[in-house]
Amino acid sequence: MLSPTECAPTQKGMSPTECPLTQKPMSPTECPPAQKRVVVLGSTGSIGVAALEVAAGLGARVRIVGLAARSNWQRLAEQAERWRPAAVAIVEERHYEELRRAAPAGVKVLAGVDGLVELVATSEANFVLAAIVGAAGLPATLAAVERGLDVGLANKESLVVAGTLLTRLARERGGRLIPVDSEHSAVFQALHSGRPSEVRRIYLTASGGPFRTWTREQMERATLRDALNHPTWDMGPKITIDSATMMNKALEIIEATHLFDVTPEQVEVLVHPESIVHSMVEFCDGSLVAQLSTPDMRTPIQYALTYPERVEGLAGTVDWRGGRCLTFEPPDVERFPALRLGYEAARRGGSSGAVLNGANEAAVERFRAGTVKFPEIARLTEEVLRRHGWVERPTLSELLEADAWARQEVNACTS
Ligand code: NAD
Ligand code: MG
Repeated sequence: MLSPTECAPTQKGMSPTECPLTQKPMSPTECPPAQKRVVVLGSTGSIGVAALEVAAGLGARVRIVGLAARSNWQRLAEQAERWRPAAVAIVEERHYEELRRAAPAGVKVLAGVDGLVELVATSEANFVLAAIVGAAGLPATLAAVERGLDVGLANKESLVVAGTLLTRLARERGGRLIPVDSEHSAVFQALHSGRPSEVRRIYLTASGGPFRTWTREQMERATLRDALNHPTWDMGPKITIDSATMMNKALEIIEATHLFDVTPEQVEVLVHPESIVHSMVEFCDGSLVAQLSTPDMRTPIQYALTYPERVEGLAGTVDWRGGRCLTFEPPDVERFPALRLGYEAARRGGSSGAVLNGANEAAVERFRAGTVKFPEIARLTEEVLRRHGWVERPTLSELLEADAWARQEVNACTS
């Protein structure tokens, strides 16, 4: 289990009173914070942009040494101008020339998936913020873990596809996987209150998304616009649709089992529409420890960057002055079957996560393209998950094959 004590800098050979910079004995107040040299993968997206705001607020604690995105070369060039990283990478190679001309002199420009991996593999980073959306984030996340770098993990799909490999490799190479996903950041923080063996249960909270109160019949007619209308969080389109199907929570169940080394039976989902309680840990004595804050991703992003310290942040605080009603309800698995699929894939393990995720990504794309209806996302994913030839201990290439197969199956069913 990724417990806070195991993750503290002491793991890397320092006593708690040693300064991470000078390695001399010091009291925590005397010790200057170590600078994070950060690569932001997916810097043009919702998390990436929020991370750069956080970095700006953190001043000299953070230096941005690399930035990467898929196609938005204009925004990437602007970010390069502002942050002057050593290198930037654009995945869509057709934009390489445009980016090279627009990027400031002295900033190396890389292209393609190889360029993305090279950025991580050769940079002087000591922290990689993995904020690419989808399984496309896996190669670069893997490159960071292989180098033993600390990874702030927003890209949950990497863990859903290859959680067993990634967590094992992180242990071997000595880097830490620090959750950025708000629920997992909350759990990570709550785990400071006890030992791994004392954890009874993890409650992942879920807003319930835009269709929390919709009937199945209403959901049959849900449009893309309806699905993108999230009540509490402002996020990229793919995760917003995943929140509407609750596949996001299914992916998060799997993410939690890998990050915290718990069984799927220890992970429960609670619908909490106000999105103030970001998750809770129940310990063996019945105590529940939760983390609360406004629904603003800058809080968990900053915590991942400054961990184990806390510093002033950009997000507002929860206002209790007018009183507040926080509500919790059990999820409705009949209306949101994706949740059941998440538990199934988490229990089976092996190649199931890669298939669940690949099928979902393809089905979400189809829904965004207008070729399938909203409820088809979970239906197609379930059908593909049932049909797949399960591999118990897949290699990386078997996981990538499972992912590609699942996408093909969805596309074959819908073309
Ligand atoms: P987004 O769509 O806003 O941004 C995605 C970023 O990834 C962009 O910079 C894009 O250029 C890049 N990208 C997309 N496809 C790529 C590819 N094939 N190769 C390389 N880069 C690619 O997405 P987001 O909402 O910022 O989400 C990013 C990740 O963070 C997702 O895994 C999501 O589940 C997770 N997450 C997001 C939030 C949130 O509030 N947005 C919260 C928790 C977790
Ligand atoms: Mg989340």
